[in-house]
Amino acid sequence: MEAIKQIEQRALIAIQGAGSIQQLGAIRVQVLGKKGELTEFFKQMRDLTPDDRKQVGQVINTAKAALENALEQKQAVLEQAQLAQKLVNESIDVTLPGRNTRIGHLHPISKARERIEEFFLKLGFEIAEGPEVESDYYNFEALNVPAHHPAKAMADTFYFGDGSLLRTHTSPTQIRYMETHEPPFKMIAPGRVYRCDSDVTHTPMFHQVEGLVISPNLTMADLKSLLHELMQYYFEKSLDIRFRASYFPFTEPSAEVDITCVRCQGKGCRICSHTGWLEVLGCGMVHPNVLKAGNIDPEKFNGFAFGLGLERLAMLRYQVDDLRAFYENDLRMISQFTHL
Ligand SMILES: [Zn+2]
Repeated sequence: MEAIKQIEQRALIAIQGAGSIQQLGAIRVQVLGKKGELTEFFKQMRDLTPDDRKQVGQVINTAKAALENALEQKQAVLEQAQLAQKLVNESIDVTLPGRNTRIGHLHPISKARERIEEFFLKLGFEIAEGPEVESDYYNFEALNVPAHHPAKAMADTFYFGDGSLLRTHTSPTQIRYMETHEPPFKMIAPGRVYRCDSDVTHTPMFHQVEGLVISPNLTMADLKSLLHELMQYYFEKSLDIRFRASYFPFTEPSAEVDITCVRCQGKGCRICSHTGWLEVLGCGMVHPNVLKAGNIDPEKFNGFAFGLGLERLAMLRYQVDDLRAFYENDLRMISQFTHL
């Protein structure tokens, strides 16, 4: 029994001094394991008389309980210390410089569109949308382009088998808007349009922004001042504008609009073919037949309309000479416009 108590004392001291959970485990095995010092005494008990066995058994059990209790407490202390150490080791140094994340940005065409929308929203225009798959009626007939009209040949149209088509311009949205809104009103309709055409300045899909204002007593002067403001806002520079008489079936009179070349400020360069002017859009006073198609009385109201190509404006603003570069998804090209 004396030996048992000695083992207990020694083990308790060892437990107190254990510096790690591994050491603690080793002490447990050494004393309480299958071949542990205390376990060996149990094995010898069968050689004792029943009375002695009872006494010795008690001493062993008391020692065993004391040791297990001490082991448990020390284990908790060591685990706590281990956790504290782990927190210190794994703490985050917030003073380290961050890793740079590459941030995406809008496509130049989307930026051009947003810029133009921004201008018109400030003036109280509504932004309308229409379907890209259109009927012949909305794309041509209602816009004063009846069947077999030569103007129909101006557009290289994609047709579907059932006679529907991919809209060749955003103008059908004008008709749909007039059908559903009471004048006076002002709206723009940005969107994708499609034509069978592909070269340096044409892609089969491109973007237009259509504009329509309906009100009594509108004149070409209103149209001209609006477009002049638009161009100066879009290019963020003072520039001149001029109208050239033109022909579109849906407007009368019609005009093509030139602005001072934004590359050479009118001095003449390769971009403007040394004329100092750039053609940027088409416009005119809405043809009475188009107003009628939109259920608007041409005796009470008149209006003006314009249509511009977003790609053309984006190419000029971002100085891109090949339109197809916008759609090749080459990040080396489009990531140059992050800050513009
Ligand atoms: Zn120029």
